[in-house]
Amino acid sequence: MAHSPLLTAGRRSGGAGDLRRGNLTQILRYVRDHGPSSRHDIAEGCGLGISTMTDLVAELRGRGLVQELDALRRPGAGRPTRPIALDGERWCVLGVEVDLLVLRFLCTTVGGRELFSGEVPARLLGSGVEAGYELLRAALCSQLDRVPADSTLVAVQLGLPGYVAGHRGTVSWSNALGWSEMPLQQLVHDTVDDAGFTDVAVAVAHDAHLAGLHAVRQELGLPLPPVAVYIGGTRDAGGALIVDGAVFQGADGGAGDVGHLNVERDGPECACGRRGCLGSLVELERLLERAALVSPAEAADLVVSDPCAALALLLEAAAAGDARVLPLLNEAGRALGIALDDVIGALNPHVVVLGGYLGALDPYLGAALRAELTPRLAVDAFAGTTLVALDAAAPRVLAGAALAARDTCLDDPLSRTHPL
Ligand SMILES: [Zn+2]
Repeated sequence: MAHSPLLTAGRRSGGAGDLRRGNLTQILRYVRDHGPSSRHDIAEGCGLGISTMTDLVAELRGRGLVQELDALRRPGAGRPTRPIALDGERWCVLGVEVDLLVLRFLCTTVGGRELFSGEVPARLLGSGVEAGYELLRAALCSQLDRVPADSTLVAVQLGLPGYVAGHRGTVSWSNALGWSEMPLQQLVHDTVDDAGFTDVAVAVAHDAHLAGLHAVRQELGLPLPPVAVYIGGTRDAGGALIVDGAVFQGADGGAGDVGHLNVERDGPECACGRRGCLGSLVELERLLERAALVSPAEAADLVVSDPCAALALLLEAAAAGDARVLPLLNEAGRALGIALDDVIGALNPHVVVLGGYLGALDPYLGAALRAELTPRLAVDAFAGTTLVALDAAAPRVLAGAALAARDTCLDDPLSRTHPL
């Protein structure tokens, strides 16, 4: 089996090398999150001495990961300072969103500048492991061909609707794709390697984890909430737990699975085999079907082929005060509130973020949802939890995949890059 960098990127024994790596990563994260910053501010923000900083910044500059900008001359401020900014132009990453009928790709520099994006139609829905990977492999190769010759690919991150054992990158189960026990990280690693890209870190994640990462890191603004819960999705309710700006995986990649919290013991059957999961109560297809805006077959088709159009139907009916849709959304808001009440109690997050179709429906779900949370938020320990609803439009999974791939490089700059 080919060596997979991610398999060895886990915990190492503490030592001077670890300390240096940790300090380099701290500096990179600081300029990533705060933008161009003075050496003084970085040193203070990272708890480093100025002389240590000078050496570390030189290392990062030598690898093209940070750059010194032109000096800012402030009147009467003495010696001009040259801000340090994230660079990463020399290195690039590829984010991949595996959706049901299409594969989406986003290639950016490690600094975050978009190099190209693309969409390849592919019927991944129910494809099974072998046929599914053949579609993915062909599309991936077509996009790897587009990586600019003057940039070095350092990381590929995939997101898909299913559970992924993060540390080994195996898709343990995706109901929508019909994939189980699929060693996707290894398969992609081999494909990337065969295409002539060596030593690329490959990672695979649940799409909701990547959406949550993007929502919390890129859409909430600074300061980052230390503990945030995300719930959203384009068709059903997936969730993520984001701790200190990174996805908390749990023991085997299942953390944050808010969509399968049990809300109604005798509720409708869920794809997971249980009854009354939050996801089964509030999934887009069920809402559309119960709203009787289209036939059940049309609802099922539309949610797969064009979830945005399905959401728009519900939103239009709700905005027009439809007497069937409004109580339905109120009921969904209540189910969401029951689940989030438990989540807030169990995790005491600083922020709960509603994204995807749930964020878009918040004006109609919100009153019942907040009513369910009122007793919980009346307790001092939970009073500080805020609830934020985001617009449905952001391409969170794809952008989150590129973001996670960039993090892979920033978290381990010595392994992922070399001096230029
Ligand atoms: Zn379930």
